[in-house]
Amino acid sequence: MEKYVDISPILEGSADKIGFSFEFEVPDSSEWRDVAFPTPVRVTGSVTDTGGYIELSCHTDVDYVTPCARCLREVRGTLHLVWTKGVAVAGTLVNEDTDDYVLAENGRIEVFTPLAEQIVLEFPAKVLCKPDCKGLCSKCGKDLNEGECSCPKKEIDPRLAALAKIRDQLDD
Ligand SMILES: [Zn+2]
Ligand SMILES: [Zn+2]
Repeated sequence: MEKYVDISPILEGSADKIGFSFEFEVPDSSEWRDVAFPTPVRVTGSVTDTGGYIELSCHTDVDYVTPCARCLREVRGTLHLVWTKGVAVAGTLVNEDTDDYVLAENGRIEVFTPLAEQIVLEFPAKVLCKPDCKGLCSKCGKDLNEGECSCPKKEIDPRLAALAKIRDQLDD
């Protein structure tokens, strides 16, 4: 699985732009608890030298399958990522411990690690099958999107109950 971009032509000054397109399998990781990635991820991008500042820019569509956070129904979606990083030759940065840069070693950069970080960073914290998913009843487990269950509803505030009673009487 190719995952390096050779940027030596840029470092040597003989090119100012290098394009690439790779396919990756997102590896299983504890990071992904119940998320699956059914198709390989294609990352397309370029490395550009703009007057000495070298930038990596990528776009990626990540297909995923995960249970709805409320009703557990399977949700299929696509995460669209557009991201950029600076590129620095290893050993030239004061602080190499930064996420803002990808380091070039032996004239090449590795694209998968920053991509994997980006997926983690931008993956929605909560995926829902639809914005107004009603979820499951916490008592009987029925999918409330399919209709009400017969469980007693949440205890009503006694003051509201009193109001409801008055309203019932007015209706009569
Ligand atoms: Zn749902
Ligand atoms: Zn119920």
